[in-house]
Amino acid sequence: MENLTYAGFALERSSELRLQHDEVQRLKDQDNLVILPVCNGKNLFNNSNNTYVAISLSEARDLNLFDEEMIFLGFDGKVPYFAANIFKEDQISGLNIHWEFKSLHSIINLITFTQASILAYARGMSIWHSNSVFCGKCGMRTESDEEGHIRKCISLECSKKIFPRIDPAVITLVEHPSEESCLLGRQANWPFGMYSVIAGFLEIGESLEECVKREVEEETGIIVNRVLYQGSQPWPFPSSLMLGFAAKAENFQFSPKDNELEKIMWVSRKGLKEFTEMEDIDSDKKLPSKHSIARTLIDSWVKREIKFL
Ligand SMILES: [Zn+2]
Repeated sequence: MENLTYAGFALERSSELRLQHDEVQRLKDQDNLVILPVCNGKNLFNNSNNTYVAISLSEARDLNLFDEEMIFLGFDGKVPYFAANIFKEDQISGLNIHWEFKSLHSIINLITFTQASILAYARGMSIWHSNSVFCGKCGMRTESDEEGHIRKCISLECSKKIFPRIDPAVITLVEHPSEESCLLGRQANWPFGMYSVIAGFLEIGESLEECVKREVEEETGIIVNRVLYQGSQPWPFPSSLMLGFAAKAENFQFSPKDNELEKIMWVSRKGLKEFTEMEDIDSDKKLPSKHSIARTLIDSWVKREIKFL
């Protein structure tokens, strides 16, 4: 699976520099550096030219940003990229009338594939910092270290290190035993008319394949076999990694064990043609966003690219 939105990371991460503080400090003095502000999970966007805003060195200095809220992201060629955690939107958006902090979902159709992957990384790291200011072991404050890639408890007795959190979730296209339809469902709190394939979070002590089987059975009563990995997608909303699978159903009658899905159905390739894009607000049959791995799985199945051999 290629060209999944938020994947295709465009920067060289240069992770060895995370332990070379003096070197990274020197990068912060470079005139060409790019600083991507993030505030409450929203990225800074320029409404006049539909691209992200990278603030300048002088703007960053005026805002006193060269403190622990800076996260070293990597390089594009010789240009160093940083994310900056901003606490108040008006700290920056007041600098230019076209600048506005916006959710990545709301601008995803306006920005390039490369920009999406970089903004997703900046957003994910920023949210992790905001959610990790206290130590989960002793309750003391934590501070950023290794150029924003770990946080450390300030208690000398504890000194617990906290690493960026990623929550693995499986997402599975299930094919009917007859091969002529696939399984879609919808949760009551999703946008009107939206359907998708079956997803759920990995639990401790579970393999990915076991998770696929459990989630599909819990939500639909369908037993699956031939669980085949298809690809993965970073999904920083706020911190998931989506692991895409295809699986073959052994039965076809629904008997869900939980109430996670309000509707479940088998849909043929012909039936899928009646489904619309998410932008068609009034439609009661919508496919998931084309930026999601769920949609890529469905499209691949329609094109018979998924093989269950
Ligand atoms: Zn601690």
